[in-house]
Amino acid sequence: LPLSEKKLIARVRRNIGRLAGKRGLVTGIGDDCAVLRIPSGHETLVTTDFSLEGIHFRRDWHPPGVVGHRCLTRGLSDIAAMGGEPVAAFLSLALPAKLPQRWVDGFLEGFLELGRKSGVPLAGGDTAESPSGILADIVVVGSVPRGKAILRSGARVGDGIYVSGELGASAAVIDTLRRQPGKKLRAVDFPRHFYPRPRIELGRALREKGLATAMIDISDGLSTDLAHLCEESGVGARVEREMIPCAMIGDAGEAQLDFALHGGDDYELLFTAPPGKRVPAQIAGVPITQIGHITRGKNVVLITKGAGVLLEPRGWEHFQS
Ligand SMILES: [Mg+2]
Repeated sequence: LPLSEKKLIARVRRNIGRLAGKRGLVTGIGDDCAVLRIPSGHETLVTTDFSLEGIHFRRDWHPPGVVGHRCLTRGLSDIAAMGGEPVAAFLSLALPAKLPQRWVDGFLEGFLELGRKSGVPLAGGDTAESPSGILADIVVVGSVPRGKAILRSGARVGDGIYVSGELGASAAVIDTLRRQPGKKLRAVDFPRHFYPRPRIELGRALREKGLATAMIDISDGLSTDLAHLCEESGVGARVEREMIPCAMIGDAGEAQLDFALHGGDDYELLFTAPPGKRVPAQIAGVPITQIGHITRGKNVVLITKGAGVLLEPRGWEHFQS
């Protein structure tokens, strides 16, 4: 390993001291298990996600700090999608023997920086040598008041369908990198791809207001994640093309709609709300847009100028090198 596990642990330990205990972490790194205290009357949320080199990131496109940030975002976004509070994160890393030490340092810096901003300590993990490529597995534990987790299965016929923020910004950046090999994009100029912020406050606000009947985070693309929500709820959907908040990045033109419909890694929230409920245009500082409504049946239909076509789930295919 480029850094002995002991050294890595010592480094992480120094970084999290301040956060321990804040959210219910009783004992973190240094014991055989972390000890977490979930508030009484709450249930535990657990999510796990891989970040694999060549699948979820590329070393020539993504600086190490970006990879660390995006790794934790994947886990936090899932907690947000349930209306939950993150409690602690766990990270398992498999690293090639020849990986430079500064890559690992940069990764941890990006990871821990988002942890600090989100108040989520890194409470444990594991390291191993990888025969090829970097593999990071993030586990995030969260909590939610008993019975209040917002599931994918709660959407009912007539509910409005809403998304937060804008869609397609992340896919537009990947498209640029793919079409112009060798082009260097500065991560700070394209934060929605390189530094996506999990919508934790928005998820919590939706749960507290009792607004959302069903929710999912948009990690694979609107078409795919809406299909998941509809399938779990046993319903269909009508989505109005003109209502989709497309991010405008560069000169993608018509492709922008494809990015918004099928591009992954936006980490916005997609939720449904009953027709009688007024949904504010902005919640927790994030713009909210209605893009359609839930229908009977199983089909997801995209309406363009009054004409409907079946919206097939075509979530962003991950990039191979
Ligand atoms: Mg998810």
